[in-house]
Amino acid sequence: AARPVLEHHVRARVAALPNVEFLAGHDIAGLAATADGSRVTGVHVQERAGGSTPRRLDADLVVDATGRGSRAPKWLSALGYPEVPVERVKVDLAYTSRRYRLRANPFTDEQSINVIATPGHPRGAFFHTLGGDECLLSLTGLLGDHPPTDPEGFLAYAKSLPVPDVHDAIADAEPLTEPVCFRFPASTRRHYELLPRVPDGFLVVGDAFCVFNPVYGQGMTAAALQARTLRRHLGGTLRPAAFFADAARVIDAPWEIAAGGDLAFPGVTGRRSVKTHLGNAYVARVQSAATRDAEVTNAFMRVAGLIDPPQALMRPRLALRVLRGARRAARDDDQLAA
Ligand SMILES: Cc1cc2nc3c(=O)[nH]c(=O)nc-3n(C[C@H](O)[C@H](O)[C@H](O)COP(=O)(O)OP(=O)(O)OC[C@H]3O[C@@H](n4cnc5c(N)ncnc54)[C@H](O)[C@@H]3O)c2cc1C
Repeated sequence: AARPVLEHHVRARVAALPNVEFLAGHDIAGLAATADGSRVTGVHVQERAGGSTPRRLDADLVVDATGRGSRAPKWLSALGYPEVPVERVKVDLAYTSRRYRLRANPFTDEQSINVIATPGHPRGAFFHTLGGDECLLSLTGLLGDHPPTDPEGFLAYAKSLPVPDVHDAIADAEPLTEPVCFRFPASTRRHYELLPRVPDGFLVVGDAFCVFNPVYGQGMTAAALQARTLRRHLGGTLRPAAFFADAARVIDAPWEIAAGGDLAFPGVTGRRSVKTHLGNAYVARVQSAATRDAEVTNAFMRVAGLIDPPQALMRPRLALRVLRGARRAARDDDQLAA
């Protein structure tokens, strides 16, 4: 399903819970806490309509799920807690997106045609059917090579992709919107689990905890896995430090895939360990083999979708298919070039 459909259903199910009330049109302006700052006791909320004054909303537990703009590090620092350690991998990525009505349908059984950016071909695309003859195309480019928002530039960028499928489908399609650009500067991981002390009654989840480069499509799954961790912790005596430690473990695998994957691009700055180099060399072979072997594609997508751990790609039977497939792909490419 398209994301708005998914979000609509999740929201409707949450709204149907008898003890849930939405406070629409309000912002959380800050935390309320005990005088010594050892416990968060609620939040200050403010109506977005101009001129309103913040009011206090008491709570046994406050969970910050305010996304990548979370002000939790500032709020904690105002309560006297140390600075939250932050890890950033700067990618200077942009998505430029446009909706079309297609004349010919390139989607058969597929929901989308995705051109995955690689260090050899850093431009990518996510091309989704929206049902019927409508589709959404997002072109992606990193390290400042951003897809343009003028129609001619957008089309030329689509033409520069390493495969022709996307450009061929939209070349004579009817545009339904203007191209719109969204910029994403960096993947950002906030290490709450490394803080020497945290207040009682306060947790952070989702993008507020860790923001992944969106091209890997992991943010919602990682947030859902953290919600599951939260459910487990709510079953007993809640200790925020223990929650942060467990939630950080949940984040480790997707962070390794996303931040590690970005470090395969030479222009991306960050610390590269031997493990990063070896991992990226292997993933390049997986992606290459996946262009010819559906079993490898399936295994890769299961890991990218966080259904299986990254180690699943290392199982001997699959590793053999990867190495054989990558060799075959390299031979085919050489023949094509000759
Ligand atoms: C271009 C793009 C493509 C993506 N594609 C995928 C994908 O294919 N698959 C995937 O899994 N993930 C994807 N993601 C990531 C995914 O969108 C996020 O990981 C996910 O939305 C995080 O959920 P969240 O609830 O933590 O934060 P958000 O979805 O950002 O929600 C935070 C909410 O808090 C509200 N808020 C913020 N500050 C305040 C405040 N002070 N007071 C009150 N409310 C506040 C915001 O208005 C917002 O409604 C993509 C992200 C982007 C940008």
